[in-house]
Amino acid sequence: MDNNTEIKVALVTGASRGIGRACAISLGKKGYTVVVNYNSNEAAANEVCDIIKANGSEASAYKADVSDLTQVKAMIRDVAKQYGRIDVLVNNAGIVKDEYVLMMNPDTIDQCLGLNIKGYMYCSQQAALKMFSKKRGCIINVSSVSSVLAVAGQSVYSATKGAVNSMTATMAKELAPYGIRVNAVAPGFIATDMVDKLPEEKKTEYLDTIPLKRFGNPEEVGDVVAMLASDECSYITGQVFVIDGGLSL
Ligand code: NAP
Repeated sequence: MDNNTEIKVALVTGASRGIGRACAISLGKKGYTVVVNYNSNEAAANEVCDIIKANGSEASAYKADVSDLTQVKAMIRDVAKQYGRIDVLVNNAGIVKDEYVLMMNPDTIDQCLGLNIKGYMYCSQQAALKMFSKKRGCIINVSSVSSVLAVAGQSVYSATKGAVNSMTATMAKELAPYGIRVNAVAPGFIATDMVDKLPEEKKTEYLDTIPLKRFGNPEEVGDVVAMLASDECSYITGQVFVIDGGLSL
């Protein structure tokens, strides 16, 4: 936990599985009360809460589709009402849909933009409005190495993650006067359901290109996110930290 003894509150979107789950557990270990947002998988979200509680922190699950502004507004309002504060927002809920540009489906574009861009913007705005009054807060966006590296089939996904990097820098500048820091992490291939769904030959092909010769663990992203939220990183804002086993080198 940070220097002061107050219990801080962190909201992690898409925290029922994968990277979001690891972020929620890492923040819980640092003493944060954690709100575990999920879209459909209530049992998995409750399991994450149980792990956080077993580690000694408070946690609650909250169902909301973060691509829907009405649901985001209700979630932020309810969290602020229940805990009186929101100190950390981790924008993590995202989707990947690989499609080559020549066969691209317009629905894919809408879904990726709706969750990966609009979702991040809705949550950031609503959370920042709460942080603003306390003159303190921290937003961490989960981007992707695809924002800085061309991966065939990911033109929509990488465009959304490039947008995440851009909004990170711009929001950092806008929100700095109010004591709110905004940073991003850009994971490479991390062993979650998202990567599990890849065909075996694709996995082998990708593994070959990673200098560390393995996929990352969600915890290796969650721990960096928890560190970025801490006072140890109080002078860092507007940055994107690549966590990719050397893939982008
Ligand atoms: P994942 O395993 O597929 O988990 C996705 C999470 O997002 C789940 O908790 C899911 O909730 C939630 N979610 C989905 N749609 C939602 C919505 N509309 N509203 C709220 N929550 C929603 O994903 P992941 O691999 O951990 O990826 C998480 C983030 O990391 C994404 O932004 C992704 O782009 C980024 N990333 C992942 C990798 C990777 O290799 N895995 C690499 C780079 C970047 P339910 O369980 O309820 O469905």
